Amino acid sequence: MVLDDTACIVRAASRLLKFYRTESCGKCTPYGEGTYWMAGILERIESGAGTYADLDRLPDIADNVSGNCLCPLGDASLPFMLSAMKHFRAEFIQHIEEHRCPMAASLASSAR
Ligand code: SF4
Repeated sequence: MVLDDTACIVRAASRLLKFYRTESCGKCTPYGEGTYWMAGILERIESGAGTYADLDRLPDIADNVSGNCLCPLGDASLPFMLSAMKHFRAEFIQHIEEHRCPMAASLASSAR
């Protein structure tokens, strides 16, 4: 996935969380549960079914993962998503308010 100005930052965060979820060795409950829930919420926002409450849930879940895992993979799963939410918050909100991925529309129109 190329992260240029046509990329959906929500999709990028969702894919990365899914990657981390599949890498779990299963020893830490905060990691297994946290990546499961965060990936699901990101997928929901990307699909246009997210809510403003989801924007509060993600950092709450991340707080429960941070520092509570047996290996560095736990903390490594968080910075991209948290940074994306901080620096591209408007894009997250756009997904919620328009009930769709705004980048999908721009990609479709540029392909014509
Ligand atoms: S954080 Fe590390 S030890 Fe914990 S479940 Fe993930 S891979 Fe396993």
